[in-house]
Amino acid sequence: MKNCPLCATEYYDEAKWCPDCEYDFPAGPAAAPPDADEIWRELERVADEQETGDGAAAAMAGRIADLYREADGNPHEIWRLSPEFLKNADEYDMAKRLFNRWKTLSKKNAG
Ligand SMILES: [Zn+2]
Repeated sequence: MKNCPLCATEYYDEAKWCPDCEYDFPAGPAAAPPDADEIWRELERVADEQETGDGAAAAMAGRIADLYREADGNPHEIWRLSPEFLKNADEYDMAKRLFNRWKTLSKKNAG
């Protein structure tokens, strides 16, 4: 849910304008970015070579997994390669945050 910034009426995230005061909500995704747990679940699926979802979390997890594979366990490479794979600083923060978990997961799968 989101609130109209002018009259504070609450609307669904999909609302494009406020019928009360005719405020136009900015175009583009108004929904909150996917949270770490959601992305992590998708990353586990990617690591397991399972079908992922089709939401924002899955898309981000796909990019982050590609980055992890390319970086091959090297945190410095995560930083260096991130502009090539990721879309913004938020995704980079998420990649940094989940990297250690990813490493334990790859170890588990390798062994
Ligand atoms: Zn309004």
